[in-house]
Amino acid sequence: MRLPDASATGRLGQALARSLRVGDVVALFGDLGAGKTTLARGLLRGLGFDGDVASPTFPIVQVYDDPGMRLPLWHVDLYRIEDQEELPELALDEARDEAALIIEWPERLGGALWPDSLRLHLEESSDGARSLTAQVPPAWEGRWPPR
Ligand code: ADP
Ligand code: MG
Repeated sequence: MRLPDASATGRLGQALARSLRVGDVVALFGDLGAGKTTLARGLLRGLGFDGDVASPTFPIVQVYDDPGMRLPLWHVDLYRIEDQEELPELALDEARDEAALIIEWPERLGGALWPDSLRLHLEESSDGARSLTAQVPPAWEGRWPPR
């Protein structure tokens, strides 16, 4: 899928929000500047969040649970995780009981990334646009691509 500009990336996030459920995990792969936070911002917008969305690097987890939102979302950026032992304290497993998760730098989870995650790979094209490829597990069949 081709995303010609940042607003296209945001709109894709918004569209994805419509079918998002508690327990869902969206894993965003891609280099620094690939558009992961832009997509997460669109997703939050689509869920009904209308405030500012900062990059969650400090802290690693940013929880969004405004009354106007259709469901709570944890925005997670694992860039600064250096040791797998830091992961349990984030309590991401437990979070899935009550929220959806969108995760930047999911490669930091290694084999612990849940197999039912929607895996989206963002890449910058030579013309400055972005291309997105998806790995769609059974849990997401019928929900990807979003309409
Ligand atoms: P990441 O979180 O992956 O580091 P960001 O979402 O912060 O990346 O985006 C980095 C830059 O890329 C931003 O300036 C954003 O506007 C831009 N961007 C996002 N999507 C696109 C796109 N489809 N085409 C061109 N630029 C984009
Ligand atoms: Mg980012």
